[in-house]
Amino acid sequence: MVKGESVPHGILRGEPDWIQDDETPDCPSCATHMAFAAELEEDYDFATGANFGGGGRGYVFTCQPCGEAAFLWQR
Ligand SMILES: [Zn+2]
Repeated sequence: MVKGESVPHGILRGEPDWIQDDETPDCPSCATHMAFAAELEEDYDFATGANFGGGGRGYVFTCQPCGEAAFLWQR
């Protein structure tokens, strides 16, 4: 389990530590930038046991008013 205190910038409601460029997604419902929710290391067993393909990092974004969530990753 990734905890906020385990990463330099914090993980909940902080700023994503992008490996590549900022890819903050837009909400599919209201088209505004989604809020950063969590950052996941590759070995984190995220629900389905995701593997990001070698050294990647996952990012979770949400839009609370719409109940939307998005997951993306970089490597
Ligand atoms: Zn929305």
